[in-house]
Amino acid sequence: MSGTAIPSNSRGGQHLSALIVHGGCGNVTPEQEASKNHGARQAADAGLSVLHQGGSAVDAVAAAVRALEDNPVFNAGTGSVLTLYGDVEMDASLMRSDLECGAVAAVRGIRHPIDLARSVMEVTDHVLLVGAGAEHFAQILGVESYDPVTPERRARWKEVRALMEAGDLSADELEHWKRISQYAARYLGAEEKLYSTVGAVAVDDQGALAAGTSTGGIWFKLPGRVGDTPIIGAGTYATEHGAVSSTGHGEGIIKLCLAQRAVSYMREGTAREAVARAVEEATGHGVECGLIGVDARGGVGFAFNTPAMPTAQG
Ligand code: ASP
Repeated sequence: MSGTAIPSNSRGGQHLSALIVHGGCGNVTPEQEASKNHGARQAADAGLSVLHQGGSAVDAVAAAVRALEDNPVFNAGTGSVLTLYGDVEMDASLMRSDLECGAVAAVRGIRHPIDLARSVMEVTDHVLLVGAGAEHFAQILGVESYDPVTPERRARWKEVRALMEAGDLSADELEHWKRISQYAARYLGAEEKLYSTVGAVAVDDQGALAAGTSTGGIWFKLPGRVGDTPIIGAGTYATEHGAVSSTGHGEGIIKLCLAQRAVSYMREGTAREAVARAVEEATGHGVECGLIGVDARGGVGFAFNTPAMPTAQG
């Protein structure tokens, strides 16, 4: 499924600022639908208000992703899903059209991974900090420690973990590590398999573009597992031609360099055409995914090959 939007705010025929957010592809239950759509709308409005006040695309994307991270309905920041051992390990990345970028992976105990990714971009010479190193970096910056685990996610983890233990998960988990995701999938609902990663892309009045993505990853992932979200070119990508944020099966998205692929199609095509083409190619490889994109002319598009992907734009 794919779609597009006419940018709402044109300034003298110059650059057209625009923004779109996603709340993750997958299945969405009827009970979840309204709160996810509402949360996406609120986040898009937070980003749009930055753009409308003359703010930059990267500020708008960060504001939108922060709003999504704060909303426990989504799997990013507060409300992130838990690993096999019951911890939250979060991934996030941010990129600007001048190719500056930053990312964090498998980071614990912070509220806004997107802000830490931005700090990696702005105050280090690196692109990606992981695990203990990323947490140490947060401490040095004075980022307050914060527990993103919600009671709902903890209760669900306990429930499914007990089913796994009663079922196929032997005491020697190592011997089953290759099959953990199959075990978890057996007990998780269809709507929990891919779960509510978040992202935003924007172009501002100066013609600068930005993309950002944030996630708790996938339920019952192995500790240390890193998906596409913090991988520049897979989960997030931006150039002077366009900006894209991905969601879906991280391992498959990494192999296809999906965000970079979609942005490369914006040299000639619109955001709408580019994300539709990239998702079609992913479908050909059997990769479940969704993309949002914005092109340098202010065109916005989204596409996904799962039953649903909440989005909001303006
Ligand atoms: N892409 C995320 C990951 O693999 C999951 C998702 O988008 O739902 O970590």
